[in-house]
Amino acid sequence: MSRQVPDVNSATDQIVIDGLEFARLGRRLVGKVPIRALARLADQLANDDGEIAWELRGEQDEEGKAFLCLQLSGKLSLRCQRCLGSVDEVLAVSSRLLLVRPGHVWPDEELAEDGFDAVEAGKEMALAPMIEEEVLLALPIAPTHGTCDQPLSSHEEHEPSPFAVLAKLKKGV
Ligand SMILES: [Zn+2]
Repeated sequence: MSRQVPDVNSATDQIVIDGLEFARLGRRLVGKVPIRALARLADQLANDDGEIAWELRGEQDEEGKAFLCLQLSGKLSLRCQRCLGSVDEVLAVSSRLLLVRPGHVWPDEELAEDGFDAVEAGKEMALAPMIEEEVLLALPIAPTHGTCDQPLSSHEEHEPSPFAVLAKLKKGV
């Protein structure tokens, strides 16, 4: 399935946009990028199968501020920090990036208030690194299984369940 995708999909890593123009025209692009095409991301995963679906929209508000809106979805196999097994993580990112014109001041306070990030606007902005950056930002710092298969199942036989402990405490009072 991942091989039989339309043109735009297989070429995510070749897509370059003129950011301000893209925003001004309110353009929209959609596609999918194989996870293994994003090397920095792939390095952090238990495996790099699968792909990330993306949608990029350009927006410009009445004040002339230009934005790129990036929506990402997919499934990632993170590495559990306790047992090193794979942890499935459903990716659902929705980012709004303010395009800062080169030489213009970065509006720090405004960013904090409105909850969006800023990127420097360029005539040749590569899409794949933007996608990768947003995915990396969205990853949990230390992913773990809620309950690891290996170590915890043997633990349970030796340790009293929290409920048993609670019951004892209650009796003791
Ligand atoms: Zn684990």
